[in-house]
Amino acid sequence: MEKELISVIVPCYNEEEVLPLFREEILRVSEEMTKAHPQLEFEFLFINDGSRDKTLEILRGYAEEDSRFRYVSFSRNFGKEAGMLAGLENSRGDYAVILDADLQHPPKLIPQMYEYVSSGEYDCAATRRVSRKGEPKLLSFFARSFYKVINKISQTQIVDGAQDFRFMTRQMVNAILDMREYNRFSKGIFSWVGFRTKYIEVENTERAAGTTTWNFWKLLMYSFEGIMAFSTAPLAISVVFSLLLFIAALVLMIFAIVKLSGTLAIICLICFVGGLQLLCTGIMGQYLAKTYMEVKGRPKYLIGETEETKRKER
Ligand code: UDP
Ligand code: MG
Repeated sequence: MEKELISVIVPCYNEEEVLPLFREEILRVSEEMTKAHPQLEFEFLFINDGSRDKTLEILRGYAEEDSRFRYVSFSRNFGKEAGMLAGLENSRGDYAVILDADLQHPPKLIPQMYEYVSSGEYDCAATRRVSRKGEPKLLSFFARSFYKVINKISQTQIVDGAQDFRFMTRQMVNAILDMREYNRFSKGIFSWVGFRTKYIEVENTERAAGTTTWNFWKLLMYSFEGIMAFSTAPLAISVVFSLLLFIAALVLMIFAIVKLSGTLAIICLICFVGGLQLLCTGIMGQYLAKTYMEVKGRPKYLIGETEETKRKER
């Protein structure tokens, strides 16, 4: 019987509290799956994203006990995007599934995802939050607006509420790895590569333990990141503004000629134009900054240790 390997990829940043719970749950689910499908094999690949707590020690222990447990430990914190990328790059499976360590992405959904993808009907199965229950109102409002804006101004459609909990075929993983950009916005990348995706609708789940590292500010920055990575529409704003200004200037000129003048009008105009110029330069500067980072071609993460290097040490 042909073996099928599933890589379970878990980005971890200060997750010492939930890791034991996660391990127990993922082992339970994988056992259940191998019972139903004897050809299945698993590898559990944890990415330690520069945690300051005991996460790395715990992962070392898991890898020593059970060879299916692997880890890649970064030299510092590179962010969840880099974690997911490292997971995909270092995975060996015929399928890969990415999920959070805090059990907000319930592992018990993996069997269902596997069924969708292995049937050949879909290349990917992902979860989609249907309600934003338990989330601060203001945050929900901004999140909704973000999806509205980005879907209007970008060719890449991003599904509202789609999560990073994804089960994919090797083919789709390779497609994602072919996208070499530095400023990674996975929600956009997943959608840009295409492939047939099944969305499973889920309710919001609370974190099992530990604390989230996201706050409003980080989320806002992340959404700008997304817009800039998948749309050049903000660059066009300057063109629109300059057109409007041109018309305004024409109208003003007519007024000035007819009679009405006034220092106030001039001051207002100066402020207005100055502000607009700054805005447009700012937008260009942002894209330039992104281009700068891309051109530098820096590595997206650096590995400090893996279960293999650790084994060789001993
Ligand atoms: N995470 C990471 N690097 C970071 C921040 C978070 O690898 O810099 C991981 C974290 O360990 C968790 C997942 O990304 O497995 C989601 O993070 P979190 O639960 O803090 O975010 P939330 O669920 O609140 O969006
Ligand atoms: Mg979480």
